[in-house]
Amino acid sequence: MTMENGEDCCVKVAVHIRPLIGDERLQGCKDCVTVVSGQPQVQIGTHSFTFDHVYGSTGSPSSAMFEELVAPLVDGLFQGYNGTVLAYGQTGSGKTYTMGTGGRDEYQTGIIPEVMDALFHKVENLKHQAEFQLRVSFIEILKEEVRDLLDPPSPGKVESGNGHVGKLVIPGKPPVQIREGSNGIITLAGSTELDVRTKKEMATCLEQGSINRATGSTNMNNQSSRSHAIFTITLEQIRKPDPVFCSDGMAIEDMTEDCLCAKLHLVDLAGSERAKRTGSDGLRFKEGVHINRGLLALGNVISALGDEKKRKEGTHVPYRDSKLTRLLQDSLGGNSKTVMIACISPADINAEETLNTLKYANRAR
Ligand code: ADP
Ligand code: MG
Repeated sequence: MTMENGEDCCVKVAVHIRPLIGDERLQGCKDCVTVVSGQPQVQIGTHSFTFDHVYGSTGSPSSAMFEELVAPLVDGLFQGYNGTVLAYGQTGSGKTYTMGTGGRDEYQTGIIPEVMDALFHKVENLKHQAEFQLRVSFIEILKEEVRDLLDPPSPGKVESGNGHVGKLVIPGKPPVQIREGSNGIITLAGSTELDVRTKKEMATCLEQGSINRATGSTNMNNQSSRSHAIFTITLEQIRKPDPVFCSDGMAIEDMTEDCLCAKLHLVDLAGSERAKRTGSDGLRFKEGVHINRGLLALGNVISALGDEKKRKEGTHVPYRDSKLTRLLQDSLGGNSKTVMIACISPADINAEETLNTLKYANRAR
């Protein structure tokens, strides 16, 4: 998608089709998704959709995904541009696999590990030009509440607060607050932000947070994720000043400090299946409704950003409609680069949800 001036638009949308997995094969599922040869075009039933890229299942190989979609965002970080990568799709469609937020063994593959490789490689190559500082945070949004995955409160433990009998408080920190500075920069008050110096340290944060991520069981999938998980990498660079020469040829330091700061959000979104499909009790349904609020708001924001006509008319971008979009506000639109990866299963039993996912992604384009 290009804008009138020929620059790349700020939102790129891709589809990642996973192969049929064990369970689906056992159930005798058929592949119901086709990729038009040589085109970023997906067909399901009588519907046909074109995206910026299509990966897997005879589209481009998944290995091309990082280079084509995400590497430009890593480069952007070094130029001071914020970025966001979003994995969207129904539970079981491959969001966690795609992002690499699975924890334990799974954390070694996926987009985030590739981002880490590229980041540390670049830092190493550029260290003579600038001083770099990397920080990470890892939070999740569940039921419109932000939780710190790097320092979660211990589950189920309650203790009396300040000696007042009968007053129970959950130990640990209060919920994380989203704050917007006067400069429009979004910060999280009360979430852990860790300085990391090596890839190993960053990978440990990813793994630890992934393990801490809340999971609940629904009849879609025991490991169903009802929360949005957001791994954020902040890069701060202090450029080493160019030497300035005096008339006598002596080099003096240019005193102006050149500090650049940008962040990259890597988001494993909650399952996009509608609440009624989880078929469980009232509580779960409420969670479903809240999840939909984030995904609904995200769809509206991205659609407003991607629509040239709406943008020209200065249409209001509804960031404030959910915690998810408020948190991502300074990293969606403007100078930021956004990539949405719609993850889909090729199995015929998932055809209805797959079609919903493709429609959602198509709207984002
Ligand atoms: P989600 O996070 O969307 O619920 P997962 O990432 O957990 O889905 O994927 C569901 C299952 O499919 C997992 O067993 C995962 O290993 C497998 N899977 C997902 N994507 C792929 C892929 N591209 N290639 C092979 N297996 C995959
Ligand atoms: Mg998942």
